[in-house]
Amino acid sequence: MQQLSDNFGRKFYYLRLSITDVCNFKCEYCLPEGYQHTQKKCFLSVDEIRRTVEAFAAVGTQKVRITGGEPGLRKDVTQIIKTIAAVPGIKKIAMTTNGYNLEKYAKQWKEAGLNQLNISVDSLTPHLFNKITGVNRFDDVMRGIDKALEVGFDKIKLNSVLIKQFNDNELNQFLSFIKHRNIEMRFIELMECGETSQFFNKHHLSGDGIKAFLNDQGWVQQLRAKDDGPAQVFSHPDSQGSLGLIQPYAKDFCETCNRLRVSSTGKMHLCLFGEEGVDIRDLLQQDNQQPQLMTRLQDSVATKKVSHYLQQGNTGVTPHLASIGG
Ligand code: SAM
Repeated sequence: MQQLSDNFGRKFYYLRLSITDVCNFKCEYCLPEGYQHTQKKCFLSVDEIRRTVEAFAAVGTQKVRITGGEPGLRKDVTQIIKTIAAVPGIKKIAMTTNGYNLEKYAKQWKEAGLNQLNISVDSLTPHLFNKITGVNRFDDVMRGIDKALEVGFDKIKLNSVLIKQFNDNELNQFLSFIKHRNIEMRFIELMECGETSQFFNKHHLSGDGIKAFLNDQGWVQQLRAKDDGPAQVFSHPDSQGSLGLIQPYAKDFCETCNRLRVSSTGKMHLCLFGEEGVDIRDLLQQDNQQPQLMTRLQDSVATKKVSHYLQQGNTGVTPHLASIGG
């Protein structure tokens, strides 16, 4: 087996797989007008998903993150988790969700083979949460988090996008929240996408202030595992929960990239930003196409660029993260 790697020595153990681009939230920085059903799309079927993951596993992928859009909206998400869990070589399955139906499904998803959950929580202040997400779902999401903790996943992370003038004074609230909960709280710097430049220009906030605060308060940065995501993770002896910081604008952010993406309609993306994606769907129709698919994956990865060039304002063709899978 030849491990997927690029011309800059980066190895790819981690696949982010979008299973739908439909979302039921209207986050200010992502889909402020809500999801637009402009054209009928045919999302990857369970069999196409299985063949995708089998081919990636055959070239060294060990971790799959299911994302979207909102993956919890797909009726067959439990079947998708089970299918991925059965692929030899896959050691971890994670899912990123807004948590709207987590209370109902956490147990079922765990039993199907889901190991890790990332739940998006941009604010712990109910009216602010509802303002940022455009929906009144704060209580549902909180109950979902409680349920996920009760069910006992290997890891639970909360994602909060840093947004100036919205949640920039909630750090202490988040720290209190994780003090007695086994949760990794992650702050993500807002990224500029094609359709959200105006919002970005007004509300982007660097994570440097949080980093300085953590260093000052005795939080210690942890080492990364090879299939870890992009966060710098900090822990503190007085806190059960840890804290992660994702700074996509940092100079060396892309150096540790270990991730590839497949969109919900079967395009492989080498980066969140900057390219159209390579269609792989034609090679997902029959089980005997795996050798050709592996070759296409290898050839494509060889063209991965060294950086996302976000710092230069490059948003490529990504209108918003729901389109590829954040
Ligand atoms: N619906 C799921 C959710 O809400 O978690 C999964 C999809 S969502 C696109 C994945 C993650 O991307 C969420 O944590 C969201 O907050 C984050 N995200 C979306 N747009 C972003 C942006 N412009 N900059 C930074 N993070 C963003």
